[in-house]
Amino acid sequence: MTSQVLCPGSFDPITNGHVDIIRRARDVFGEVLVGVGVNQQKNYLFGEQRIELVRRSVEDLDGVEVAEMDGLLVDFCRSRGISTVVKGLRFGADFDFELQMAHMNHGLSGLETILLPASADHVTLSSTLVRSVLQFGGDVSNYVPGPVVDAIADRLWQGP
Ligand code: ADP
Repeated sequence: MTSQVLCPGSFDPITNGHVDIIRRARDVFGEVLVGVGVNQQKNYLFGEQRIELVRRSVEDLDGVEVAEMDGLLVDFCRSRGISTVVKGLRFGADFDFELQMAHMNHGLSGLETILLPASADHVTLSSTLVRSVLQFGGDVSNYVPGPVVDAIADRLWQGP
């Protein structure tokens, strides 16, 4: 028997590190819902494209679904019958933040958090760094899935 777990994030844009965590969470738990956060107060570089890019980047992974997510994480999980969240853990700063979030979410609704260590290949990779490199015209194609590489190419081709 499997139960679906949630992998939440902003995915602005999805990176190879995210895909690795999603795949490994799927291997451990069987089914994963990827929750793409939509926060009206945030200025996303990839805007509404983020959800489509996540969908295309995980479409080959059986057992993985993608949904838009807003509001409180615990409310989203309750509405979907999800009791466990899986997050990737890179370095100390992730741990400090995730520990706070995990305790708050557990306190709010009993939601459990499982932290998966980032794999050695992706441990220093972040969407923030990808965006910084992109904004100066750098090539991030080794760090993001094919659909994101294509979206970046289209954007450059269309010009500013
Ligand atoms: P970021 O922290 O890169 O801006 P998100 O907010 O989308 O990205 O992160 C969502 C989740 O993905 C978090 O749990 C974060 O720790 C995890 N994550 C992000 N990048 C990586 C990576 N390179 N390896 C493993 N987990 C990652």
